[in-house]
Amino acid sequence: MKHQRSTAQWREMDAAHHLHPFTDTASLNEQGVRMITHADGIYLWDSEGNKILDGMAGLWCVNIGYGRKDLPEVAKRQMEELAYYNTFFKTSHPAVVELSHLLAEVAPKGFDHVFYTNSGSESVDTMIRMVRRYWDVKGKPEKKTLIGRWNGYHGSTIGGASLGGMSYMHEQGDLPIPGIVHVQQPWHYKYGKGMSADEFGKLAASWVEDKILEVGADKVAAFVGEPIQGAGGVIIPPATYWPEVERICRKYDILLVADEVICGFGRTGHWFGHQQFGFTPDIFTTAKGLSSGYMPIGAVFVNNEVAATLAAGGDFNHGFTYSGHPVAAAVAHANVKALRDEGIVAAVHEDTGPYMQKRWREAFSRFEHVDDVRGVGLIQAFTLVKDKASQTLFDNWGEIGLMCRDIFFKHGLIMRACGDHIVSAPPLIISKDQIDELIATAVKCMEIFE
Ligand code: PLP
Repeated sequence: MKHQRSTAQWREMDAAHHLHPFTDTASLNEQGVRMITHADGIYLWDSEGNKILDGMAGLWCVNIGYGRKDLPEVAKRQMEELAYYNTFFKTSHPAVVELSHLLAEVAPKGFDHVFYTNSGSESVDTMIRMVRRYWDVKGKPEKKTLIGRWNGYHGSTIGGASLGGMSYMHEQGDLPIPGIVHVQQPWHYKYGKGMSADEFGKLAASWVEDKILEVGADKVAAFVGEPIQGAGGVIIPPATYWPEVERICRKYDILLVADEVICGFGRTGHWFGHQQFGFTPDIFTTAKGLSSGYMPIGAVFVNNEVAATLAAGGDFNHGFTYSGHPVAAAVAHANVKALRDEGIVAAVHEDTGPYMQKRWREAFSRFEHVDDVRGVGLIQAFTLVKDKASQTLFDNWGEIGLMCRDIFFKHGLIMRACGDHIVSAPPLIISKDQIDELIATAVKCMEIFE
C-alpha cells in the first residue's frame, strides 16, 4: 500500500484524534506513536524503515505469522460471495459451518460445539452468561459466583475486567461487579518460597477450595483461570496445580473454565493449554490465534453436557451482530487448517518449542538481576530481581521492567514487560535461526541493562 503522508503528519493526526487503549495519552503526545506500516513472517517495519523482530506476535495473537497470501485471498472471495449475514434466528452460512466442523476436529474429544464472538473479552463475557444460564437450567439459579485469580487477565469488558484480577483495572469503574471473587495466583516464586513446586501447586489449589467454602459451594458457579497467566507475566503453575483444581471443582459440582485466549491454538505446543497441564475444563474461551489476528473473531468451546443443558433451556438470549461473521469465519478456517496441515502446532511441540526453551534458559540464567527463567512451547519469560540469592523483587514493581522493555525496543526487538516479568511469545512460525537472532538481540540488550 502506498502511504501519502510523512511520519510527522501521522503522529500529529494520531495525537489529534486517536484515543489509544492502555496508554497514557499525555506522555504519548510528547513522544508520538511508532507507526507500524507493514509486516512479513516474524518482522514488522515502521514508517521510518526500521525492521523490528516481533517477539510478541502482536498481542500474543499472530500465531501463523504476518504476510500470508492465502488468508487475504480467502477474505476477498468470502466478501464477494457473502460479505455479511448473521447466525441469529435459525440462519447459518457455509463459512461458519465449515469452521465449526473444523474446530470440533482440532478440539479435544467431547467439545463438539462452539459459540462465536469478536474478541477474547466477548468470549469471556459470553462464558459468564453461559455459566449462569447453565445453572439456571439445571434448577440451581443461586449458583452464580465466579472465582477468578488475582493478576489473571480476562479482557477489558465489564465482565472480563471484573473476572480478571488486575487491581489497576478494578480501580477504574467500580469493579469487580457483584458475583465475582478472586483467589491468589499460583506464582511459586513469590508465594511458595522454600516449598517444592509440587507442594506449592497443591497449596495454591487449596486456596480455590477455601474460597468455595467461604462463598458456599451452593453459590459458586465456576472457577476460571488461564492455563498459563499470560498478561500477568507468564506465570506457569506447578504440575500439581491444575489436576488438583479440577478435582476440587468436581468435588463441589463447580464448572471449570480455562481461558485459552493466549494459550489456545498452539502457543504451548498443544492445540490448547489445558492439554499441556493434563486437565479437562467444561468450557474454554478463545480468540487471538483462532484467526492469528487476521480478522477479529473469538469462540467459546463447551463440552457436550454443557451444550445439551443450554439447548434444553430453550433460547439463550445472547449474541452479537457479528457472531460467526462470514469473512472472519472463512479466514479463521483457513488459519486453523494451515496451523494443522502445515504442521505449525506440531513443530512448536517437537522442534522450535523445545529449542526455544533450551536456548532461553541458557541465555538468561547467567544474568545477575534475572531469575525464574521459564517457559513452555513458544511462551517464555524471566523476572527482573533485585537480589537473586534472597529472591527479592525490585521495590517499584514494573518500573525496571519498562526500562528493560525500552532497551529491547530501541534495538529492534519487541518483548513485553508485565510488571518486572519480561515476556515473549513470537509467531509460531519462527525458525531456529530466528530464535537465535531473537535471543542474541535480547542478550545484547540485557548486557546494556545490567
Ligand atoms: N483473556 C485472556 C487470557 C487474554 O490474554 C486476553 C487478551 O489479552 C483476553 C481475554 C481479552 O481478549 P481481547 O483483547 O481480544 O478482548
